[in-house]
Amino acid sequence: MTRVLITGANRGIGLALARQYAADSAEVIACCRNPSTARALRELVASTGGKVRTLPLDVADDASIASLKRAIGDLPLDVLINNAGINGTPKAQSAERIDVEGWMTTMRINALAPILIAQALRDNLLRGSDKKLVAISSDYASTGTNYGSSRDRYAYRASKAALNNGMRGLARDWADDGILVGILYPGWVRTDMGGERAAASPNSISAEHSALCLTRRIAELTPATSGAFLDYNGETLDW
Ligand code: NDP
Repeated sequence: MTRVLITGANRGIGLALARQYAADSAEVIACCRNPSTARALRELVASTGGKVRTLPLDVADDASIASLKRAIGDLPLDVLINNAGINGTPKAQSAERIDVEGWMTTMRINALAPILIAQALRDNLLRGSDKKLVAISSDYASTGTNYGSSRDRYAYRASKAALNNGMRGLARDWADDGILVGILYPGWVRTDMGGERAAASPNSISAEHSALCLTRRIAELTPATSGAFLDYNGETLDW
């Protein structure tokens, strides 16, 4: 049975991924900051007969990552999905105004945490059979395609570009160990992060559809596509 660990699994795309993997009969370790108050996740745990379990994880906290590692011990992991993210604190990080602390927080959560978590759980991936490390990235990371749009979100863009770069490094440096790295854009998704614009737009997709596509892209990951930047339909995105 495939064992998958997902960060930020209490809402949005992370919760939809947990539901999809449970429906696909995987064993899911669903991490979030506070499992005891994560109602939707608790309902999923209750309705899936032991397939889903929760563990606390604040991805921005070294001690929390260390305690996740202690809780998991030597358990083999087939897929590790770094999904937790924020879209900038505060949202306006623009040509006119950069909030330094907010920028650092955004970088810490979106770019650095996935690499630290991957390092902490590398041995678990090596014990798994699939050995797949996944980062949920964004088209905002793309300097090539997204240069002209959205005049704020400087920190978010930079953090996702840094995430991509770090993941590509791991794809190269851990290739000999058989670890495959997926860098995936989930689409414009109707979640809290997608916000009111996504909720109102016919061009956005549901978290359920995004999660279904992402699980398929993760299943298809091979050495040939490891380290590539792909969208939820498997199309290549510009760096
Ligand atoms: P949501 O805002 O709906 O959910 C974000 C998730 O990240 C929540 O579970 C949140 O937990 C968690 N999170 C944030 N900070 C931390 C932290 N310090 N420790 C642990 N968990 C944390 O966003 P989405 O579901 O839409 O986004 C998921 C991923 O997809 C993100 O990486 C995002 O950048 C990416 N993405 C989303 C797009 C979209 O259109 N929605 C488009 C492109 C990329 P909590 O409830 O505790 O805050």
